[in-house]
Amino acid sequence: MTTSNSSLVEVVSLLKAATKVLLIGHVAPDGDSLGSSIALCRLLRQAGKEAYVGCLDRIPPRYEFLLKFSPVITVAEDLPPDVDFVVVLDCGDLPRTGLPLAYTARQKFINIDHHTSNTGALGHAWVDSTASAVGQQVLRLLDAADWPLDKDTATCLYTSLATDSGFFRHGNTTPTLLREAARLLECGADARLVVEHAFERKSLGELCLIQRALGTLSLHDNNQIALLEVSLVDAQDCGVQADEVDEMVDFARAIPDTAVAVLLKEMAPSVTKVSLRSKGMLDVSKIAEHFGGGGHRAAAGATMPLSIDAARHEIIRRLAEVLNNA
Ligand code: AMP
Ligand code: MN
Ligand code: MN
Repeated sequence: MTTSNSSLVEVVSLLKAATKVLLIGHVAPDGDSLGSSIALCRLLRQAGKEAYVGCLDRIPPRYEFLLKFSPVITVAEDLPPDVDFVVVLDCGDLPRTGLPLAYTARQKFINIDHHTSNTGALGHAWVDSTASAVGQQVLRLLDAADWPLDKDTATCLYTSLATDSGFFRHGNTTPTLLREAARLLECGADARLVVEHAFERKSLGELCLIQRALGTLSLHDNNQIALLEVSLVDAQDCGVQADEVDEMVDFARAIPDTAVAVLLKEMAPSVTKVSLRSKGMLDVSKIAEHFGGGGHRAAAGATMPLSIDAARHEIIRRLAEVLNNA
């Protein structure tokens, strides 16, 4: 899927006509899902609507600063029972929103997303795989709706743009992304606040876990695959959650002449989350889809119903198969 202006126009007219809306991103929330949901919530409220943000999974400490820009509903019981639309941002399938089935069964949906793996099947879908972050889509939406942008909303959108591009380092750092980030700064976005919390901040526990994870580094398939692991025991010993360290996979990606970086996180004894990063040649979203996940060409992930040992075995086997047939 690429840009579809008719979908943007349709989404704007649906939102303009709506009076009550719930915004929700994905479980294991990140700066894009939270930043774009909170930004759109603020825009809808300023347009006189009743709007709520939901996030039914733990918000990592590095994104807690966003909560001062809007309250977030964190338990399903507190969700507004009747809304005109649930707007799903930064993912395209309902299980990834964490919303209970009993809730989603009676709702209508708008979907705003930029993942290549999104087939556009969720409600009124505006999927733009050329967008580097959903925050960019929200920026286009507010222009199309002729809604004003205040400095706090600009900070939320700057969080989206900065975090999904790895703070303007990844391959999705386009001229448009930088121009739009500059526009957000001109509107008063607090870039220092975002960088301090979402990028620089590392607790003692996180540093402890990084130290442990680096000790697990292994190379496979003629050094084409670099793999790091976070076990439950290591996370517990360090006093942090397995997913608390953002972009740990970057340490594996840093190694020259590798093709793909892998991070395995043991979430429970038979639940392992895998993060995949490609150096360009390999489309890792296809690998993630094979294991029931998804993502982008260069960054993708999946949650596997396997022990960390079994997940390591499966991932290495699949990657070796694809790399050696490329
Ligand atoms: P991560 O490795 O968790 O940082 O995720 C990298 C990219 O893959 C992000 O764009 C995620 O939205 C996407 N992704 C991660 N896990 C999943 C999943 N289980 N299903 C679909 N997409 C995922
Ligand atoms: Mn995301
Ligand atoms: Mn995103």
